[in-house]
Amino acid sequence: MLEIKNLHASVDGKEILKGIDLTIAAGEVNAIMGPNGSGKSTLSYILTGREGYEVTEGEVLFNGANLLKMEPEERAAAGVFLAFQYPVEIPGVLNSTFLKEAVNAVRRARGDGEMDAMQFLKILRAKCKELHMSDDMLKRAVNSGFSGGEKKRNEVLQMAMLEPNLAILDETDSGLDIDALKTVAEGVNALRSPERSFLIITHYQRLLDYIVPDRVHVLAQGRIVRSGDKELAKELEASGYAEFKQSAA
Ligand code: ADP
Ligand code: MG
Ligand code: MG
Repeated sequence: MLEIKNLHASVDGKEILKGIDLTIAAGEVNAIMGPNGSGKSTLSYILTGREGYEVTEGEVLFNGANLLKMEPEERAAAGVFLAFQYPVEIPGVLNSTFLKEAVNAVRRARGDGEMDAMQFLKILRAKCKELHMSDDMLKRAVNSGFSGGEKKRNEVLQMAMLEPNLAILDETDSGLDIDALKTVAEGVNALRSPERSFLIITHYQRLLDYIVPDRVHVLAQGRIVRSGDKELAKELEASGYAEFKQSAA
């Protein structure tokens, strides 16, 4: 599904990613771990097409198409979803309205017709039920006054509604207590399917106790310095990243 080949990227003329090779098959959950500042978020921004992040070498294929040539909206329409580390608050916009706009924007870009209010609400309620979420959060303004856990749960709902092919979670676990972490993990696990791949970016191993990855990669100073299965995450929890900071340098 996703093929990253020799990806180099810069921000403000400074090279951050220094030759990333990574392949994610359909249905797989891949985790990227690594020290702060290693380029994890940069990688997620490159994949979603954020402004200011420049690819200087390499390529990224998404279901065979050149992802880097696509506009951010086209990527979203193609099924790439990024859950943010720090969800934004949008006072004055109802959460359900926001979700409907997001879903319909993607549908328009795909050339599908917009969903009407009835259709949308039916699906939204079904997803809420699936994710054990109350309808309450839908009637409030987007993320405003939400607890940390509610924001993350709301992100999982956004993801469920957009039905992405590739979902990228960038440190969605940061600052979560164990209950909220489990909620996020449950939501992700409920969305796992043979057609959907996940890239889970995390500094800590803890989340991966609940979302069991197929592959784990260590990113250090802009390079993937090690790959393995879920045991690698456990090993890192015990040993820390010191070894990789040195070896990457
Ligand atoms: P991580 O997510 O692994 O903590 P980042 O991708 O956020 O790492 O950052 C990687 C490096 O790129 C860091 O050294 C950071 O300071 C730098 N960097 C990231 N974004 C910017 C930016 N917008 N401007 C300048 N430097 C940046
Ligand atoms: Mg960071
Ligand atoms: Mg980051």
